[in-house]
Amino acid sequence: MTARSTIEAPVLVAGGGIGGMACALALAREGQPVELFEQSATIGEIGAGLQLGPNAFAALEALGVGEQVRRAAVFTERMVMMDAVDCSEVASIPVGTAFRERFGNPYAVSHRADLHAALHAAAAEHPLVRVHVGARIAAIDRIDGPVAVRTADGRRFEGSALVGCDGVKSVVRDRLVGDAPRVSGHVVYRAVVPVADMPADMRWNAPVVWAGPDCHLVHYPLRGGEQYNLVVTFHSRDEEQWGVTDGSQDEVLSYFRHIDARPRRLLDLPRSWRRWSTADRDPVTRWSEGCATLLGDAAHPMMQYLAQGACMALEDAVTLGRAASACRAEGGGVVDWPAAFRRYESARVARTARVVLSVREFGRLCHSSGVERLVRNTLWAGRSAERFYDALEWLYGWRPERCLAH
Ligand SMILES: Cc1cc2nc3c(=O)[nH]c(=O)nc-3n(C[C@H](O)[C@H](O)[C@H](O)COP(=O)(O)OP(=O)(O)OC[C@H]3O[C@@H](n4cnc5c(N)ncnc54)[C@H](O)[C@@H]3O)c2cc1C
Repeated sequence: MTARSTIEAPVLVAGGGIGGMACALALAREGQPVELFEQSATIGEIGAGLQLGPNAFAALEALGVGEQVRRAAVFTERMVMMDAVDCSEVASIPVGTAFRERFGNPYAVSHRADLHAALHAAAAEHPLVRVHVGARIAAIDRIDGPVAVRTADGRRFEGSALVGCDGVKSVVRDRLVGDAPRVSGHVVYRAVVPVADMPADMRWNAPVVWAGPDCHLVHYPLRGGEQYNLVVTFHSRDEEQWGVTDGSQDEVLSYFRHIDARPRRLLDLPRSWRRWSTADRDPVTRWSEGCATLLGDAAHPMMQYLAQGACMALEDAVTLGRAASACRAEGGGVVDWPAAFRRYESARVARTARVVLSVREFGRLCHSSGVERLVRNTLWAGRSAERFYDALEWLYGWRPERCLAH
């Protein structure tokens, strides 16, 4: 521990998901002591996959865990969209050598637990990070000057600043922004199946989206191709509440009767499903106040259609670390947190809002029917890889060294 860290109050980080762990690591790497509070009794992630764009790998490199994540990831060959009604190919974007050269990093898929474990291990090993489990932040007493929070079991903690990485239902956001989540009515079922159960003609080394009216299915390999991640989404008939429950095979089957048997047979594979009723929020222009800010889904929850929520959380963390460093008093003094959070926020608000809004549009394209579906199926016909890359530059071309520019 450095001399500075022994006198500087820690930053309090609420939430130990991908965003919270990345945040703790980014701040510690900039010399900032951190105390992280995770409400669950154990640290971990759900059993499901995650797509990681080159922007995520750029952030992971900057956090010093790129190599660990790459080791467990599957590097895919393409990104594919198929029409789930007639099984025609709608788009196929190669993500091999030319893609890596263009964006400086690969496109890959990872088990969530592998990504999270790499971040957690690096954070937990860092001498400036202390992790509390079974510690739910229940109240925020002060956000000006030193911050103070209370956990559900009545303990009180003070720090120099507070970062809410506490997900879609963030209590820190309740205090800083006070808006309500927008329950989408789109329900996601997720499962992981062994490769032996996956039909041979569906074992593509790619994230494949089967786009159908008001629904879609996604599959991609995990862990060296030993497993396949399955994600299926539909527009619910019911009034939904945000949350996660056990899924029902009958329910999921009832939403996919109108698509072709080839993608539909994927629904018979899982032995059990988990069901997510999803939500996002309308983007806001500010998410910081005084010595408190937000990061990841707490700041900009989004639906999953561009596979970017965790990627954005990783970018946020790197940017927050760099902003803290830029606002540290000369000679290694304390950080001016309100200034650092303004700097961080102004670098992140428009970019993440663009992703949230683009995701909504992309979801509409995925789920289109009638003439909209026909239009969608012609949108990218004959498009070269370079033109796809140009269109994706704003998203995948993010670089840590330019992260404070906006
Ligand atoms: C179906 C689906 C597929 C997705 N696929 C992708 C993908 O392919 N690629 C991608 O980049 N993103 C994807 N995402 C998005 C990604 O999962 C999220 O954006 C990401 O996990 C957000 O991380 P987070 O740490 O901000 O929030 P969370 O993962 O929600 O973590 C919040 C943490 O805070 C804890 N917590 C909550 N409240 C408190 C409290 N009061 N006190 C203490 N702890 C608290 C929680 O227990 C949790 O550990 C997908 C999302 C869904 C739903």
